[in-house]
Amino acid sequence: MNQKENHKNQIFEALSDRLERAMAYQTALTLLEWDNETLAPVQAGALTSRVQGTLSAAYQEVMTSSEVKLLISQCEKQPDLSRVERDIVREAKEDVEKLDCIPPEEYRAFQELVSESTRIWVKAKKEQDFSAFAPTLQKIISYQKKFAGYRAKDGQKLYDVMLDDYEKDFNMEKLDAFFQCLKKELVPLLKQITESRVRVDDAFLTGDYPEEKQRKLAEYMASYVGFDFEKGVLATSAHPFTTNLHNRDVRITTHYQDRVDSSLFSVIHEAGHGIYEQGIADELTQTPVGQGASMGMHESQSRFFENIIGRNEAFWVPVYGTLKDLFPDQLRGVGREMFVRAINKVEPGLIRTEADELTYSLHVLVRYELEKQLIEEDLDVEKLPELWADKYEEYLGVRPDHVAEGVLQDIHWAQGSFGYFPSYALGSAFGAQIYACMKREMDFDKLLEDGKIDVIREYLREHIHQHGKLKTSRQLIRDMTGEDFNPQYYVDYLKEKYGKLYQLEG
Ligand code: ZN
Repeated sequence: MNQKENHKNQIFEALSDRLERAMAYQTALTLLEWDNETLAPVQAGALTSRVQGTLSAAYQEVMTSSEVKLLISQCEKQPDLSRVERDIVREAKEDVEKLDCIPPEEYRAFQELVSESTRIWVKAKKEQDFSAFAPTLQKIISYQKKFAGYRAKDGQKLYDVMLDDYEKDFNMEKLDAFFQCLKKELVPLLKQITESRVRVDDAFLTGDYPEEKQRKLAEYMASYVGFDFEKGVLATSAHPFTTNLHNRDVRITTHYQDRVDSSLFSVIHEAGHGIYEQGIADELTQTPVGQGASMGMHESQSRFFENIIGRNEAFWVPVYGTLKDLFPDQLRGVGREMFVRAINKVEPGLIRTEADELTYSLHVLVRYELEKQLIEEDLDVEKLPELWADKYEEYLGVRPDHVAEGVLQDIHWAQGSFGYFPSYALGSAFGAQIYACMKREMDFDKLLEDGKIDVIREYLREHIHQHGKLKTSRQLIRDMTGEDFNPQYYVDYLKEKYGKLYQLEG
């Protein structure tokens, strides 16, 4: 190991050393965020927020120090850096630029606001009181617009700056076309389905499913699809999520409800995120390129595991027996085929995280349109609940009775994440394109029937996971499939799958 390091460029080594320090602050912040969502006591809030503020400031201080900037510019001139080292320098430079344009006191105040605001959001949601959250939301939006303004290149729109954080190469112009395509194809398809005579019985999925057994199922399933419990843990939180310290410590959560498929598919989904992070090459982890390529690519993997693998009938051939053994009474008389139809039932609902595979992107469409209005058109936050309800009625045919099942359902805005939502829909579309490519390369269903998910997982690891941020999603897709991103694969996949399930005329 020492010998290898002797060959490293000394200037790059000096930069790595500073980056490692910055990464340590980030790791501590990640751990505190995880703790806030899982185990921290209610009263920890305010004081922990201060700690988070201090750590964020320390992170910003290291990253924007004149020393780091000098080392980056020196590294850019080094002729003997490897490809990976070059990418680390490029990514670090981007991180520095992002942080550097925000005044430190504003950055710190924003971090504190955001860590406080999630608690305000939780309470407002619980009490179904949007007005308790609205002023905080307005403050967050003002900060985000101000920050985006600092970073905007000449003529760049503020929302495009935000979108760029989550998915490069996909600005409003591209996303408008993408969502237009989904709206045009999926809204009528959904209408055909809700008007079809086919009825899918899924009543047996709800009932007395003891939490203890659901937890057993969750652990079994995460492990079955390939989440490595020696490099990861599973905990309980209000809202399922994944976070990672590095590729040897990846943490997923779920929640247990009386609908058994809720936690079941949340866990497979989060395991998909986790498998991605666990699959990042050792060479990259704990460097600025040591995470998933983008939010969209991350969602492509989690939704790939959840839907393309987990809701596939072939997947259940080897494991349905295990599920029946765990819940013999609850699933009495329910055969595998009936179960698979139930977990694929299309039912327009109000809650995004509980949405079926087909309607899911329409939930995202609502949020995309509202974010555009909030950021680009100064939409008054007070109008959100009503507009939200109107859009749900228009695209999904349902209307929330209260804000907890409407505009307050997601944590993202409370965390200051604007521009994040589109990645959920993009991820689904990436996944469908990846699936089409994989089906040309291997007998996908046969592998699932034989319980050989490892072959599928390894393929994904080789083409996507291990590369971290060395490539953008578009590059990953192009290199893997030989084609540029094309949403038609997603539409075709949904039409074929649900056309069959609901016996629609082709
Ligand atoms: Zn996800």
